[in-house]
Amino acid sequence: MNQTKYFIIDFDSTFTQVEALDVLAEISLKDNENQANAIEEIKSITDQGMDGCMSFRESLKKRLDIVNANQKDLPELVDRLSKLVSPSFQRNTAFIDKYRDQIYIVSNGFKDFIVPIVSKFGIKEENVFANEFIYNEAGAIIGFNEENMLSANNGKPNQIASLNLKGEVFVLGDGYTDYEIKKAGLAHKFYAFTENVRREKILNEADHEAPSLDEFLFSQKLERAHSYPKNRIKALMLENIHEGAIQRLKNEGYQVEIYPAGMTEDELVKAIKDVSVLGIRSKTQVTKKVLDNAKRLLSVGAFCIGTNQIDLNAALKKGVAVFNAPFSNTRSVVELALAEIIMLMRNLPDKMSEMHKGKWNKSANGSFEVRGKTLGIIGYGKIGSQLSILAESIGINVQYYDLEEKLALGNATACPSLEHLLKSSDIVSVHVDGREENKLIIGSNEFELMKHGVVFVNLSRGHVVDVDALARYIENGKIHGASVDVFPEEPLSNDHPFQSPLMGLKNTILTPHVGGSTLEAQENIADFVPSKIIEYINTGSTTNSVNFPNITLPTLSQAHRFIHIHKNEPGILAEINNILAKHGINIGGQYLKTNDIIGYVITDIDKNYQEEVIKDLKLVQGTLRFRVLY
Ligand code: NAD
Repeated sequence: MNQTKYFIIDFDSTFTQVEALDVLAEISLKDNENQANAIEEIKSITDQGMDGCMSFRESLKKRLDIVNANQKDLPELVDRLSKLVSPSFQRNTAFIDKYRDQIYIVSNGFKDFIVPIVSKFGIKEENVFANEFIYNEAGAIIGFNEENMLSANNGKPNQIASLNLKGEVFVLGDGYTDYEIKKAGLAHKFYAFTENVRREKILNEADHEAPSLDEFLFSQKLERAHSYPKNRIKALMLENIHEGAIQRLKNEGYQVEIYPAGMTEDELVKAIKDVSVLGIRSKTQVTKKVLDNAKRLLSVGAFCIGTNQIDLNAALKKGVAVFNAPFSNTRSVVELALAEIIMLMRNLPDKMSEMHKGKWNKSANGSFEVRGKTLGIIGYGKIGSQLSILAESIGINVQYYDLEEKLALGNATACPSLEHLLKSSDIVSVHVDGREENKLIIGSNEFELMKHGVVFVNLSRGHVVDVDALARYIENGKIHGASVDVFPEEPLSNDHPFQSPLMGLKNTILTPHVGGSTLEAQENIADFVPSKIIEYINTGSTTNSVNFPNITLPTLSQAHRFIHIHKNEPGILAEINNILAKHGINIGGQYLKTNDIIGYVITDIDKNYQEEVIKDLKLVQGTLRFRVLY
């Protein structure tokens, strides 16, 4: 017969991410100039108590003396702590709902603030065992109820013993006093909870580590928000990826390993074996060999725009979805292009360098407003079309040329040919993509067609423009000014020298491929790429994937989701559905998208399934990958 399970859960640094008395001190001592020292001292006393180096009662007395708080500080404390409930508790409310009679909060903290917080999650007030403050008439906290078992040494074991629980008892906590319950023989298993703090001493004593509540629920096969604990998902982030991205993945509960540089193929082959999420920038090559050695890889995040460094087809054939950040720096490039157009029209680069050499050259010669001029945009994609809008808003007439039919934004007009654009623009700005065929599409012939006195801007790709020809046309005066951010040959790093025939030319702005390099763009990338990966892992949605067929899926509720990735061969969908029918499974929703290489089928089913069905689905000829999501 199944025994009743009881769950003893600690509050500080377990249910919430922090130690409540530290936060209380921040509030009560906010006007005290020694606040920082006091908080440090409290933390140190807390740690000594947690590690078992100081008796609990002594540590509590010392801390309360320093905190010097008042009852009126408590509402703010409750408010702050409510926002700091550990994420894995926040998402596992279904577990709390189901087991509310068997969940006990047993804490050396204080009921005065614990009850208002945990009761919002449905935990019963009578199941909260914790200390109680004593206040004086003015509301000052002057001590604690020394009659309360939890104020004394060995309080938690004594409290649990008094409950006389008949069944299996599990303790989840981060401190020594939690372990004491197990040590006293009052619990079957002690899980060291490490989502917020990790105390080696406690881990050594624990039966299991629970990096989150999910891991505990998974190991005990209990109701949980995630079918698979996130802490078992390992993310490897190379090349100094922005801290925001690391934090985003950590907040999701993944185990994140960071490596500051790129990796060679051999290094990555070794490192990738148990990795589920790989993050790279432009230096690391994700080759077929790397992918063949990746046994658990679900997704690769390119924390940049380009994805040439990844063998996208090999990834597809392994069922690995690749995501990048295609428009995270669009705005940054556009702002720079616009600024440079204005600078060049005013002849500012020359004036600025003269000023630095002590030459005062006040003159309007060669300086023009941009208002009323015609800007010709070559490549009306993300950047080109955004530039169109901003340029028009300051009075520039915009025309564009694109290989594809594009919607003209605002009052912009499409040119029938590149030649037409070149002949009729005062400013030419290139924003085509980096495809091979775009090599040298702007050279002598094109410069020859341009108007005399044209301003020329290239922030797209270095190989698109013949820079020798550009240099000649700047020197012969046909081009009034030029701005170039991307070059056919760019130095490998900041330590390598830069060489170009454009160096030293008049009214020429040269920048080191920084069009998209802003902190905002970095932050956008750090936010965008992890959000796509997390969405893919959680729901199967492949929106914005570079290699997978794009499907946006509804969030799942009250159903299981089967994700089946297979070679795009005829008959596979029918076979999947035959298997589901054979097992009597009713399909709630089904989504299919294919490309030349794979078929991606998502099936939502509305009842519990037998493990057999999974085996059968995995055996379907041509299966590349199969996952089950809640
Ligand atoms: P995009 O793919 O959204 O747009 C490119 C557009 O160019 C598409 O509409 C395409 O149809 C069109 N096109 C391609 N070849 C063409 C041709 N020969 N003639 C006319 N139109 C053509 O790309 P995007 O995000 O707008 O980026 C544009 C360029 O900017 C890319 O080359 C990208 O690498 C570069 N970029 C540079 C920086 C930087 O730091 N300087 C930053 C981001 C992007």
